[in-house]
Amino acid sequence: MPLDDILARIRTAETAAGRAPGSVTLIAVSKVQPLDRVEAVLQAGQRVFGENYVQEAQAKWPALRDRFGPVSVHMIGPLQTNKAKVAMDLFDAIHTVDRPSLAEKLARLAQDRGRAPQMFIQVNTGAEPQKAGILPGDADAFVATCRALDLPVVGLMCIPPEGEDSAPHFATLAAMAARNGLTGLSMGMSGDFEAAIAAGATHVRVGSAIFGARAYG
Ligand SMILES: *Cc1c(COP(=O)(O)O)cnc(C)c1O
Repeated sequence: MPLDDILARIRTAETAAGRAPGSVTLIAVSKVQPLDRVEAVLQAGQRVFGENYVQEAQAKWPALRDRFGPVSVHMIGPLQTNKAKVAMDLFDAIHTVDRPSLAEKLARLAQDRGRAPQMFIQVNTGAEPQKAGILPGDADAFVATCRALDLPVVGLMCIPPEGEDSAPHFATLAAMAARNGLTGLSMGMSGDFEAAIAAGATHVRVGSAIFGARAYG
């Protein structure tokens, strides 16, 4: 679907939810997409992208930033602690802070640099054993831990269980953010970004609806 159509759907969803136009940031998820598709979306004017793998992002974005100018790239995949350093220098936001050891590592790096990307805490709202994210019952304490470390936490992120209605997960995440005084909500993908906007999403992460199916899984 053309980028403009996705942007129009976002505007419609914002209006329907009584939210200001432009209050939702579209993150175009470009992981494992062929370069020509990514370039086409850059040509169309999109300047915020999401990646899941540090190495792939590192191979792709420095050259694209040289050609297209400033592009905001968000890390939305699980982050290994040993990749934290590269991630700090490459990304404008990290959506997947999900455990104390990673938070401590990122905080140390932020201190050294005197700057850091915006951070979102990933919450495993479905408590799925195979999925990353802090468990819902541990989330409030983890927000406090991150704040004590001076990490610039701006919001929460979730990936609802596949095959379930996303809406209750979005509502849970929104309530959790509100009670912790966090305004950022990274939620909603190709199949459910309008429901996420209705529930208060500030960042939607849309891949296949923009770029077409990924060539794996
Ligand atoms: C791949 C991915 C997306 C995009 O998914 P689509 O269904 O292609 O829109 C969004 N968020 C995360 C965390 C992802 O890994």
